[in-house]
Amino acid sequence: MDHFLYRDGELHAEDVPVAEIAAAVGTPFYLYSTATLTRHYRLFEEALAPLPHLICYAMKSCGNLSVLRTLAALGAGADVVSVGEYLKARAAGIAGERIVFSGVGKTREEMRLALEGGIRQFNVESEPELAALNEVALALGRRAPVAIRVNPDVDARTHEKIATGRKENKFGIPLSRARAVFAEAAALDGIEVVGVDVHIGSQLVDLAPFEEAYGKVADLTRQLRADGHDIRRLDLGGGLGIPYERSNAVPPLPTDYGAVIRRTVGDLGCEIEIEPGRLISGNAGILVSRVIYVKSGEERDFLILDAAMNDLVRPSMYGAHHDIVPVREPAPGTEAHPYDVVGPVCETGDTFARQRPLPPLAAGDLVAFRSAGAYGAVMASEYNMRPLVPEVMVNGDQFAVIRARPSYDEMIKRDSMAPWL
Ligand code: PLP
Repeated sequence: MDHFLYRDGELHAEDVPVAEIAAAVGTPFYLYSTATLTRHYRLFEEALAPLPHLICYAMKSCGNLSVLRTLAALGAGADVVSVGEYLKARAAGIAGERIVFSGVGKTREEMRLALEGGIRQFNVESEPELAALNEVALALGRRAPVAIRVNPDVDARTHEKIATGRKENKFGIPLSRARAVFAEAAALDGIEVVGVDVHIGSQLVDLAPFEEAYGKVADLTRQLRADGHDIRRLDLGGGLGIPYERSNAVPPLPTDYGAVIRRTVGDLGCEIEIEPGRLISGNAGILVSRVIYVKSGEERDFLILDAAMNDLVRPSMYGAHHDIVPVREPAPGTEAHPYDVVGPVCETGDTFARQRPLPPLAAGDLVAFRSAGAYGAVMASEYNMRPLVPEVMVNGDQFAVIRARPSYDEMIKRDSMAPWL
């Protein structure tokens, strides 16, 4: 459920008409709902309530400071994948002790900054990374808290580009090597082993792969404890999917996911960490755009929008579906017309949808891409010298620009002229 609903024939974000924000901010822009972020965060809190836990929001999905602060105020920690994200999480008010640092390619400099600033744990993904972290920690006279990410070789049954838990993927340490690597870690003076980490992929619409992976983590935890390791935390990653197409089956709810966690690892007495991103931010955001032209081709009609693949890359990158709705509610009984919905970028890949049935639209009309809060603004670029798409947040009847659109002047000034020119 989200808080982008029609009221009096107009799409509203909570209590604010979307058209009012478009008039004030200009299009395109991302629009986030505080109430939806809050609701989704609380669903996870409720699902894990019986267990000691920390929800480390995967800020890679939507990392605006105001989004982070909203979640931090509810008690969220953060999952970061670069020191840039680490510093931003800190700037949003998330304490280092509530931040887990994931990712296969942390540099020594990133490790140093996070260790100095304070960090809950590094999720280590390889033996060379473990050795590097040990050296960095020793040089600082510290011990780095570490969970080792294992690769359970589970098919997440999701898009191949966001599946991470198969043995052919670059992530984690194979289960067959896990005990040896934990032993190696335990022998390093700069490392303090605190737990096991797993993340099998994103946009999972089925609980079976989670069940399989967490079952393997539970078995491993028992073995590791028998080997003498103090495994006190299990980081179970993120990945729960969201309904992108309202007409499709609804993915499992956080409550059902919580039940899987309790069933598989609940009796181990570990503190549970999860790293949800998409389920918290995805349906909490829309991308609002205006129709520039309606172009009638020989075979089809094109709806040319002022948003493009640089603003929302998921359709061209993953072939992803986003529901597109007009901001003015169509009158009941309006007949749908098929459009190819495209942006102005000079690539055929700049296509959001083909032959999408929509109510008849005209130049100047506003449309909204639903479920655009996750992996939307964070993946935006300035390709074609198009200004980075701004972000706006609503809270009840208020709204605020939380990342402004840069001016062309600012964009041009970011480059500098080589001295010989
Ligand atoms: N944790 C890690 C290590 C990830 O790589 C990702 C995303 O792929 C996430 C958490 C968040 O996943 P999602 O947004 O699907 O919940």
